[in-house]
Amino acid sequence: TRGLADADPAVFAGVTHELERERHQIELIASENIVSKAVLEAQGSVFTNKYAEGYPGKRYYQGCAPSDEVEQLAIDRAKQIFNCGFANVQPHSGAQANGAVMLALTKPGDTIMGLSLDSGGHLTHGARAAMSGKWFNAVPYGVDPETHLIDFDQVARLAKEHKPTLIIAGGSAYPRIIDFAKFRQIADEVGATFMVDMAHFAGLVASGHHPTPFGHAHVVTTTTHKTLRGPRGGMVLTDDEAIAKKINSAVFPGLQGGPLMHVIAAKAVAFGEALDPSYKSYIAAVVENAKVLAATLKERGANLVSGGTDTHLALVDLTPLGVTGRDADEALERSGITCNKNGIPNDPLPPVKTSGIRVGSPAGTTRGFGTAEFREIGNMVADVLDGLAKNGEAGDAQVEAQVRERVRALCERFPIYV
Ligand code: PLP
Repeated sequence: TRGLADADPAVFAGVTHELERERHQIELIASENIVSKAVLEAQGSVFTNKYAEGYPGKRYYQGCAPSDEVEQLAIDRAKQIFNCGFANVQPHSGAQANGAVMLALTKPGDTIMGLSLDSGGHLTHGARAAMSGKWFNAVPYGVDPETHLIDFDQVARLAKEHKPTLIIAGGSAYPRIIDFAKFRQIADEVGATFMVDMAHFAGLVASGHHPTPFGHAHVVTTTTHKTLRGPRGGMVLTDDEAIAKKINSAVFPGLQGGPLMHVIAAKAVAFGEALDPSYKSYIAAVVENAKVLAATLKERGANLVSGGTDTHLALVDLTPLGVTGRDADEALERSGITCNKNGIPNDPLPPVKTSGIRVGSPAGTTRGFGTAEFREIGNMVADVLDGLAKNGEAGDAQVEAQVRERVRALCERFPIYV
């Protein structure tokens, strides 16, 4: 019956510090967002107490009527958002959703193809360190060294040579629209299943700012916490009934036990928000703001991988400034701006250093920043980078202190969780 502050002051302090951090730092991590109070409330609800193994109407435990209610809402809303026939909303995360597809549609030892990590792919698409790279014969495809766009000639050549069971499109640091029809054509030529992992750009698909993978992909996975602005979690979608059946068995009992009903309740809330007309204008602003941020960094001397962005994120090549990704993300954090270092295509530096940073607009746009604010943010980032270019990894302490003040002032003009 005691609240957190009283029952566990140490954990309460950590939560308070996180709230303060989110309130006063500018969040440019492209995979993050700021959920509504309604999403937080659903996720912090009594549903965390409930075991509901199975699916709505077919549970292994008693007392599941309320669980059925919220899971069915989440499923119906997800189907409505993406105009598709089936949704499994139980995966605990994006990695779990991708694992479920592999469990459902492939066997260990099969060949899979995904975008390589250094071209912006994700660990779960066949990276050596991950299960997808250890249990499968992973053949990565990449981007063209000049345009930084997916090299479809290479995809086609590798597919013909290696005959993959599964071809995956999607990534974590690919700033451009993906041509799903081309992938599907290649998949059909070699008899592969085509999966799209739209984790990053799902919100843009929902609002019509990115072409939909449905009609092309056999199966689609996503996270629910990035541009979709829901709780941390995953989801698998498809229009194919036979695949749908296999996905349900792969998620439970294949890969997971009890679903996180509190998270599923929060997913339902977020999906409801994504169906509201205001979400379309939110994503329109996300895309516009990412363009302004990227253009400002380019004007100030950085290169943009692929020359720009069509989405919510940009991959910034710091080579022309003589600054590494690691020095940049550390100096920016000292200045109150969070982003992540990120490898660029054919990066000469190792993953712990990198030549780039990835920046995104979803979280800043949620708190109300518009193009004027994103231009100011781009200039603040560039000021900090100039300090690194001048002084090496120590940066320019005076500039960083000034930026910290400007960040604080900007955040106070656009408060969150008031
Ligand atoms: N797929 C893509 C494309 C991602 O970017 C991510 C996360 O960064 C994932 C999957 C994994 O999601 P999670 O961190 O929820 O496991």
